Amino acid sequence: MRSQVISKEDFKKIIHTLIEVQDIYSNALEIEKKILEQRKNLDDMSRQLARLSSMLKKYEQRKKELLKTKELVSENLANAKKRLAELMERESEIARNQRSIESFNIEVTTLRASISEISEELRSIEEQINDINDRYEETKKAYESLSIEYQAEEKVVEEQSKELIEKVEELKALKEKKLSQIPAHIAQSFDNLLTKKGGLAIVPIEDLGNPKKYKDHYYACSGCNIILPYMVVEKIKFGNDVVQCPSCFRYVYHPSWLDRLG
Ligand SMILES: [Zn+2]
Repeated sequence: MRSQVISKEDFKKIIHTLIEVQDIYSNALEIEKKILEQRKNLDDMSRQLARLSSMLKKYEQRKKELLKTKELVSENLANAKKRLAELMERESEIARNQRSIESFNIEVTTLRASISEISEELRSIEEQINDINDRYEETKKAYESLSIEYQAEEKVVEEQSKELIEKVEELKALKEKKLSQIPAHIAQSFDNLLTKKGGLAIVPIEDLGNPKKYKDHYYACSGCNIILPYMVVEKIKFGNDVVQCPSCFRYVYHPSWLDRLG
């Protein structure tokens, strides 16, 4: 175990550097989060665009089917009308024969009913086509406006990301520079701890007062809230070695003791 005694001045310098490095790390983390958020927003828009595009395809397909049906029904209607016209032409000729007039009348009535039915069907198909057209146009408009919005957003995000990534790189370089100014074993362990503890690797200790008379004060690690052993507190107070919490291993310090040192 390392236990080399360091000067109070070095101790202060190390603690201040660790706090600085932690702030730099947090800033970089925040910026990285912002980059991810912007990307997520773009991804959401892109998914929405894909959904609209698939709706447009479905409407197109449905419209094609309806137009085909319309063609068939129109043909049926034309045939029925033609048949009726042919019958009507022969009406006066058939009227002379009492027997055939009865079956003629039945056929005409049936044909007229059929024509009216087919016409009704055709109207319904046309209504459906109009409805699909309306939906298609509406969806297309939504697609186009979102598409424009997406392109603008993409440009902004690309530019901003570039800046933000540069900023993160700068901060990382600054962090390395700062860490290089303190003993390597502390720098290494602190850097690992920052990653492991989500950016909180050095914390002030918290004065809990003296609930019991026989000891001065109790102090807790503000990272994990355990009450620190007396020996640990003494070491922090003395300031000749950096101290880690025995429970969460975060580096611990006391702001006003630090200011008093040296
Ligand atoms: Zn702790």
